[in-house]
Amino acid sequence: MATIGFIGLGNMGLPMAKNLVKAGHEVLGFDASPDILHEAKLADIITCATAADAAAEAEALITMLPNGEILLSVMEEVLPVTPKGALLIDCSTVDVDSAKTFHSQAKAAGLGSIDAPVSGGIGGAEGGTLTFMIGGSETDCKRANPYLHIMGAKQVRCGEGSAGQAAKICNNMLLATTMIGVGEAFSLGKKLGLDPQALYDVMSTSSGSCWSINTYCPVPGVGPTSPADNDYKPGFASSLMIKDASLAQVAADSSGQATPMGSRALELYKEFAAQSDEDMDFSGIITWLETLNRG
Ligand code: NAD
Repeated sequence: MATIGFIGLGNMGLPMAKNLVKAGHEVLGFDASPDILHEAKLADIITCATAADAAAEAEALITMLPNGEILLSVMEEVLPVTPKGALLIDCSTVDVDSAKTFHSQAKAAGLGSIDAPVSGGIGGAEGGTLTFMIGGSETDCKRANPYLHIMGAKQVRCGEGSAGQAAKICNNMLLATTMIGVGEAFSLGKKLGLDPQALYDVMSTSSGSCWSINTYCPVPGVGPTSPADNDYKPGFASSLMIKDASLAQVAADSSGQATPMGSRALELYKEFAAQSDEDMDFSGIITWLETLNRG
């Protein structure tokens, strides 16, 4: 069993670290919040006073942090003390440029590294059913496999360093656009007097079918159970969708690719969150779309 450092024990990180402990690994954890450290201690995570302490003995060091800036500031602290040859596994969702810096700094420090952002949310973190989208060398991906296997159900290697982050933001940019499209279709259907169940039966089996209809239908009482059936409690909060859609636009700017639907989707999510509630599940945008009148 390995000694694993884990930095960032928030909504996602703590249940992921708990699963590693349950599987028999020794986990040394650090979080900036003392309350969270207290909770981690109760779950048999060995809590540390600093990020450097969590890294100093680690064979693998996992990070699950809010953004790229924080990731790189934590790296500054841990890189000098992490044992040579250890593997860094960053599971945070960060911008592609920060992910590239993370990999080059790891290499310069003699460490292996993968970026492995996740989908599956808090439920997936608790149940150990996350999907990891991975960027890094084949060797490092293989080395990470036994740990990721405990925390998740699926691993997809997307390419070399930062490819995991790139895949994650492309997927979530698409999700932002499809959820708005689905919300618009149901809103128009309602104005035209259609029964939403009949419209669901058509769209979920026709050329418009997609995950936002078939798996995560934003209309209460229609389709499989989704946050719409629980007053739009997340799920995946609109604030997180705005974060990911913004990262996609940063990547679109730096790569020079036009993404007219992706940029409009981000604007709409920002308007919705400002006028409604950024803690509402992202599928709740349908409730705001229904209030809009044609100008
Ligand atoms: P969170 O805010 O609950 O957790 C982040 C943790 O990092 C917090 O506990 C915070 O105290 C800690 N932290 C901040 N700065 C730190 C520092 N310098 N040193 C140590 N700890 C520090 O966020 P989360 O929901 O757990 O998300 C974590 C990452 O996973 C994010 O990048 C997010 O985009 C991504 N993600 C989240 C979800 C989700 O459903 N919550 C789904 C997929 C991906």
